[in-house]
Amino acid sequence: MLRYFLFLTIAMYTLISYGQSSSSSGIGYNYKLSDKQWQNKLSQGQYNVLRRRGTETPFTGKYWNNKKEGTYKCSGCNHELFTSNTKFKSGTGWPSFYAFIKNGIELGTDNNISYSKNEVHCANCGGHLGHVFKDGPRPTGMRYCINSAALDFKSD
Ligand SMILES: [Zn+2]
Repeated sequence: MLRYFLFLTIAMYTLISYGQSSSSSGIGYNYKLSDKQWQNKLSQGQYNVLRRRGTETPFTGKYWNNKKEGTYKCSGCNHELFTSNTKFKSGTGWPSFYAFIKNGIELGTDNNISYSKNEVHCANCGGHLGHVFKDGPRPTGMRYCINSAALDFKSD
């Protein structure tokens, strides 16, 4: 009887801790870290955007006015998100793109239905990047409005 009780206790602990770890690290993403690990890895500005869905002040980020050719990667996990070919001058003070690299991003509803539809995430780690609006230039008509803190630029 005691043995059975112990087994049940251990089984319950396992279930509880499993539930906690999966909710804090993001379900279904290839790149997963605990909240503590994210805090250690990222700067405060990066953490606030990527893990707390914050928005940086316009015209203050590293890349809103960056005109160099290259690739924009996720500053959380190094996943390729956008290329300079699709960056355009939006006048908003945030880096803006009209298209993304295939499989680079996902929208709020793809992995977590509690996020708003226009929220843009890294498809590899689930980090919050910014928002998408339907007032972009041709050919897509989309404007992916992204925080510089969520990006890491690599020149070609
Ligand atoms: Zn990422």
